Order: sequence, then C-alpha cells, then structure tokens
Amino acid sequence: MKKICIMLLIFFTALPVNVLAQGFSTIRDDEIERYLKDVGRPVFEAANLEADNIKFFIVNDPELNAFVAGGQNMFIHTGLILEDDDPSMLIGVMAHETGHIAGGHLARKAQEMERAGKEAAVGYILGIAAAALGASPTASVALLGSGAHLAQRGLLKYSRAHEESADAAALKILKKIHISPAGLLRLLKKLGTEMSMKFGRDINPYLLTHPLSSERTGRISASLENDPSLDYPTPSGLKLRHKRIISKLEAFIKKPEEILADKKYSSDDVASRYARAIANYRALKLDKALELINGLITEFPDDPYFYELKGQMLFENGKVEDSIQPYGKAADLLPDSALIGTALAVSLLATDNEKIAIEYLEEAIRIEPKNPHIWHQLGVAYGRSGRLGDSYVALAEEASLFEKEDEAKQFIKRASEHIDINDGSPLAIRVKDLMNSLNLKN
Ligand SMILES: [Zn+2]
Repeated sequence: MKKICIMLLIFFTALPVNVLAQGFSTIRDDEIERYLKDVGRPVFEAANLEADNIKFFIVNDPELNAFVAGGQNMFIHTGLILEDDDPSMLIGVMAHETGHIAGGHLARKAQEMERAGKEAAVGYILGIAAAALGASPTASVALLGSGAHLAQRGLLKYSRAHEESADAAALKILKKIHISPAGLLRLLKKLGTEMSMKFGRDINPYLLTHPLSSERTGRISASLENDPSLDYPTPSGLKLRHKRIISKLEAFIKKPEEILADKKYSSDDVASRYARAIANYRALKLDKALELINGLITEFPDDPYFYELKGQMLFENGKVEDSIQPYGKAADLLPDSALIGTALAVSLLATDNEKIAIEYLEEAIRIEPKNPHIWHQLGVAYGRSGRLGDSYVALAEEASLFEKEDEAKQFIKRASEHIDINDGSPLAIRVKDLMNSLNLKN
C-alpha cells in the first residue's frame, strides 16, 4: 500500500491513494484487494453470482460502511474492516450486499434514481470507482467536480422490503459457507445503538442507504435463536489473515508513533512485526524498518508482500536502483498483480530500463485496461524509447479515461502523424476504437 504524503514529493503520478472531493479517498493495495476477493468469492458463489465480475474498492474512511454501486462494484470502508478482529462481520456485510445484488435491488434503484433525476449520483459513485483505479488527485477532483454536490443528495435508500430480502439472503449465504451470522448481528446491534444515540445527525452512512429498524434486528435475532450456525467457528487461517490485514491498514492509516507505542503491536508475531516495519518506515526510520522487513523475508521467502513493502521503502527513500530487486521478486511471485508490476516498472523507468518497464506495463494494462495511471506510465515509457505513435495513443487512453476529450483528441491527432491508422495493426485498431468513443471522424 502506498500512502499519500511522501509519494507526492517523489513521484506525483505513482499515487494509488486518491484524495477526492470532500476528503473521500480510496486505497489501492494488492494484498487487501486480494483478501477481499478471496473472502468474497464463496459469498458470491453461494448466491450463484459470477465472483470474477465483482470488483472491490477500499474506501479510506473510519465509518462502518459498505455499499454497492454501478452494478457489481462493492465499496468497503476501512472502518468496517478494522471494526472487528473476527472477519465474520465483514463477511456478513458482504453477504447482505450480495443479497441486494442477487435480488436485483440495484437495477430497481437505478430506475428510481432516473425517475428522480438522480442518475448523476450514480455517475458520482462511478467517478470514485474510476479514480480509485489510479488517477492523480487533481484529475480525480476534476472528474468528480460536476457530481460532487450530489453526494449530499446521496443514494436512494433501499426499501424495507429490500432490506428484509437482503438479510434473508445473507443468512442463507452465511449458512451455506459455514460462517457465523453473529458478526452481522453484532454490526446491526452496534448501528442500532448508534442510531438511538444520535437522532439523525451524523448518522452512519450505512443507515442512510440501508434503513435499520429495531424490528429488523429483532427479526434476525429471533430467526437465529438457538441456531447452531451462530457458533460456527471462523477458520483460524482466515482469522490470522484478517489480523494481518488489520495490522497493515492500521500501520498505514494511524500515526506511526501510535503503532510503535501500541502494546497490541509489540509482540513477535508476523502481523505485529509487519505493522512495526511499516510504522518505522513511515516514521522515516529506514534502518529499523529494513531490519524488520528483512527478518520477515528471511523467514517467509515466498511472501510477495514483504518484498513489495521493501521495494516501496527503498523507492520512497530515493534508493530507486535498490528497489528493483525486491519489487522484481514480488512481481515474480505475483505475476497477475497490475499494481506490483506497475510499481516495478516505475522503478525501472526511473533507472533508464524502458524496455523491461514496457513489458511489465503492457502486462499490467492487460490486467487493468481502465487504469489511467498505467496508461500514463506507458505513455512515458514508449516516448522514452522513441515509439511516439504508441506513446500518444497511451496518453490519449489516459485522457479519455479522465473524460478529458479535447486532450484525448489532441493526442490522437499527434499519434496519427506517427502511425498509419488504416493499416489494420492492433495499434491502429485501438486508435479507431478511441476515435469512435470520442465521436471523431476517421
Ligand atoms: Zn441493505
């Protein structure tokens, strides 16, 4: 995971944490995203949904919240991940959201929104999703500028009937995958208590879209009375992984001195050492940070994320050349990670290794074709290798993803001075596709 401040100074565009309008920010991190996908997969499959179609976005926000928008994009707030040491709460919420997807509630909601003239709110949410894929912060704000005021109008509430049906679906899913519904119940009870204390002001955003009534919580509690599924134990491997994700998130989000003083992180277990390595690096104590991460690497030589963190520590401390080896090792271990491949490519580009950088970036863009940050790096890499046609096309792709139409058109015009856009090559076909999407005449 990359955090914002230091990255800004060193490499503006390599900024996977995007600060959006109103302080809304998203986090890109392969380890956390993969964790969410892994715990989400059985949930979606239990609801007969295609797990690969569901995308996760991590919202850097302490509120207990999660929502689905624009079809199958699931937004999970860090507050929800951090709330409970047992992942059954997170999985319970995923199961409830999945109930909304499988029940087709979103399509109906979209129709209602259209009728209410709120379709722009959907655009706003999708803007967040696009920005989350790797926009630079200024671009994200520009992208969201038009729809930002709609955030206050918010998304339409699910109806009570939808809530009931999503709850019922969630309980069914949880039973099927052998996860205790106690986590979901804990969350509902907690939100219920919060609600009765706050009376509408500063109400939890989850409650704005998912109406909670005492009957609702009561109904679930009653249906689960004496239910053996409440006692399903969470598998210990899953609990350990959850603990590691919490440690990583906290170490990146909280003040480093807080982490280093926290008794919770003083022990010798892997998650604590991981957290201390991150906190030391964020506190600019590179030697201590390296000592900790090297210890973890020696002990777990096949763990890609320890190498990734080491690469990040070195890169952000200006040791770009040294960052290539650990980033390279991480990329070898996880060849399907666009984020790690791109991080490696950025280090390679900064040390004049354009050719290899291009190989990693081309693979990364194959995995995440709508990531403007990767297109940008590709534009730079092609340009430095003298492939001007490719470079302008990549920059046109980036501009088009940010909906900067004029800029995109300019880049296409320049590209067509370097390549024959009618020769049927893959590049020419891409140009034509871009021209079509921008309504340009050939
Ligand atoms: Zn709901």
